[in-house]
Amino acid sequence: MRTLDTKTIVVASHNAGKIREIQDLIGPLGFIAKSAAELNFVEPDETGTTFEENATIKALASAKAANMPALSDDSGLVIDALGGDPGVYTANWAERPDGTRDFAMAMEKVEQALEKAGAMKPEQRTSRFVSVLCLAWPDGHTELFRGEVEGTVVWPPRGSQGFGYDPVFQPEGYSITFGEMSAEEKHGWSIGKPQALSHRARAFKLFVETCLEA
Ligand code: IMP
Repeated sequence: MRTLDTKTIVVASHNAGKIREIQDLIGPLGFIAKSAAELNFVEPDETGTTFEENATIKALASAKAANMPALSDDSGLVIDALGGDPGVYTANWAERPDGTRDFAMAMEKVEQALEKAGAMKPEQRTSRFVSVLCLAWPDGHTELFRGEVEGTVVWPPRGSQGFGYDPVFQPEGYSITFGEMSAEEKHGWSIGKPQALSHRARAFKLFVETCLEA
C-alpha cells in the first residue's frame, strides 16, 4: 500500500457533477486539485468491463499526462431486476446520438426497462450505486477503493440537487432521494465522522484511511 505524500493531485474526470463532489471531499484535506477537464486532457475510452478497470484507465491516463498523482472515479447504478444494468454503462444510457448526455432521458429508459421487467413494487426495484476510486502515480502504481450504497429506484424523479441519476435513487433507510439531499447529506461524511452515506464518500473514506492516514 503506497501513501500519498503530496497535496497536489489531478481529479481524473470530465464529469462536472463528479468533479464537484470529489473537490468537496478533498478540499477540506488541504488538497489543491485540478481536473482533467480544466487541464484539457483527452478523455480516454472506457474500454474496461468493470468499474475497477475503467477507474484505472482514467487515473493512469491523467497521472501520466500531468506527471503527478491522479484520482479517478468510475461509478454507476446497478439494478437487480435488470441483471445489473446499467452498471458500467450508466453514463452510456444517457448518451444522445450527437454525443451529449441527457439524464432525464436516461432515467426514463431505466423506468421503461423496470416496467418491462414487471418490477413495479419497491422491493422489486432494489439497486446500488457503486463508486470505484483509483489513485494512480505517473510510474504506473495504482490503489483502488470501492464504495457502495444500497437503495431503491423510485418513479417519478424527485429533487434537483446532485447530478446524474440522483433524483431516482432513494438510499435504504431514507424517505428522500439523493436528488432531494444537500451535498453534505448525500456524502454523509466529513473528517472525524465515522459514517459515510454515498458510494463515493464511502470509497473516499477508504482512500483517506488507506493512503493518507497509513
Ligand atoms: P462514468 O463513471 O464516467 O462511467 O459515469 C458514471 C455515471 O453514473 C455518471 O455519468 C452518472 O450518470 C452516474 N452516477 C455515478 N455516480 C452518481 C451519483 O452519485 N449520482 C447520480 N448519478 C451518478
